[in-house]
Amino acid sequence: MKNVIFIGPPGAGKGTQAAKLDDMFSFCHVSTGDLLRGEISKGSELGTKIKTVMDSGNLVSDELVAELLKANIDLSSKQYIFDGFPRNVSQAEIFQDEIMEENEYLAVLFDVDTDKLVERIVNRRVSSDGNHIYNLKTNPPKVAGVCDVTGLALVQRKDDTEEVVRNRMEVYLKETAPLVEYYKSKNKLKSVDADLEIEAVTKQIASFLQ
Ligand code: AMP
Repeated sequence: MKNVIFIGPPGAGKGTQAAKLDDMFSFCHVSTGDLLRGEISKGSELGTKIKTVMDSGNLVSDELVAELLKANIDLSSKQYIFDGFPRNVSQAEIFQDEIMEENEYLAVLFDVDTDKLVERIVNRRVSSDGNHIYNLKTNPPKVAGVCDVTGLALVQRKDDTEEVVRNRMEVYLKETAPLVEYYKSKNKLKSVDADLEIEAVTKQIASFLQ
């Protein structure tokens, strides 16, 4: 099994699919957004700086994110789904030269109608530990406001409000979308129709991994 990179705009379902595929295959899901939120929750000076950038929807520095990622993975014994990294071409080069080196990987593009995404994201809620994702319209919890798995309260991420989401979309189009051509030219890109139901998307991605 290869390592997998997920590429797609905010709200395309990358985190949801990573959780499903971790259960089906022996992947570890590593999300740079989650690692950064973990750093913020430590309350350090670095965390405060990261929070200001994240709350605006802009990207944190390439070097900082790459170092955080390297400190949290072990490619000698595990296979990963990389969710949220690389996020631009310069990170893709760091990823190849300093992280993957000789390890095999595949990039999966979440192809989605971006017009639908803003609505999808403003309806997103996460358990207060950040580990479980819901959507008030398409994937609601059994009891309103409460995580089915942990019983914790559901919260809205600060960067999931409409104004910040619109900026995150612009950042995606400018910084991250060029990765599609980048991985296509390296013959490493597979594309999934992420407008389908959750289960159908999982099936498509699973078929790339057999
Ligand atoms: P996500 O949880 O993937 O939606 O990421 C939330 C926010 O974390 C982004 O809007 C960025 O501010 C920051 N972030 C996550 N991954 C990266 C990355 N690879 N490079 C720079 N910033 C990142």
